[in-house]
Amino acid sequence: MAKKLLNILKLIIFLITFFYFYQLFSARNLNIAANLDLIIGESSNLPATWVGILDVDKNIPILILAGHADSQGLAGAGTPGEAVHKFGLKPMDPEISDELFWNLKLQESIVQLGKKKGLNIRSYDPEIRNIDDANDPRTNWSVGSKFAKRGGYAIEIHFDAYGKYGVGAGLIPPFSETPNKIDESIARTFGRFPVSFRGGLGAPRRQIRILEIGKLEGLLEKNLRNLKTRRKTIKLLANEIIQAFLNGTI
Ligand SMILES: [Zn+2]
Repeated sequence: MAKKLLNILKLIIFLITFFYFYQLFSARNLNIAANLDLIIGESSNLPATWVGILDVDKNIPILILAGHADSQGLAGAGTPGEAVHKFGLKPMDPEISDELFWNLKLQESIVQLGKKKGLNIRSYDPEIRNIDDANDPRTNWSVGSKFAKRGGYAIEIHFDAYGKYGVGAGLIPPFSETPNKIDESIARTFGRFPVSFRGGLGAPRRQIRILEIGKLEGLLEKNLRNLKTRRKTIKLLANEIIQAFLNGTI
């Protein structure tokens, strides 16, 4: 009888300890989601000397594009992320890369919040997930390029590859246009890439900015995948981006 009681007591102590550590662990994850620098991880440390100095009117039309929304073929689908590629977890959606999954979620959240804050902001989604010709009028880049030519601010959001495959967070400014104060504001929050990164990528050459949010790994990816912290993490990122827009316009 005494032994049975002792076993029950042991079980109770075990359960209390287990729940204590479990809660400590989830609370820690939640708290970390409130700190941007911790969540996005390292920023690009490539040498970048550009400074955005051009003033921007607060009513400038803004277009948010989700990186890789039209390129889910073999090349250029975006990063599968650390969870899938390194740890073998299931992709968020078997039809698309994890990067696109999060790009789309964040795109929606940015536009929703931006509208609430009075920005002249919209999104574009080609919906066809694989368009081979980058110059097809329905691609991100064609729509973004047209938008930029008309004086709008077009930006494509991305999550970078994990570990040594990625660079980190930061903004790639347009290739042949002088960076403006929105570029500067976003770069101060996320970091900056050189203008000629990888010889000037397809998007910047079309005057579409690229924002790398951070590497899809570690805390950022964990907080996105965890259902308890997902909404808060996406909201935190969207809020930082919208705040950068508001700070960069007059
Ligand atoms: Zn990408």
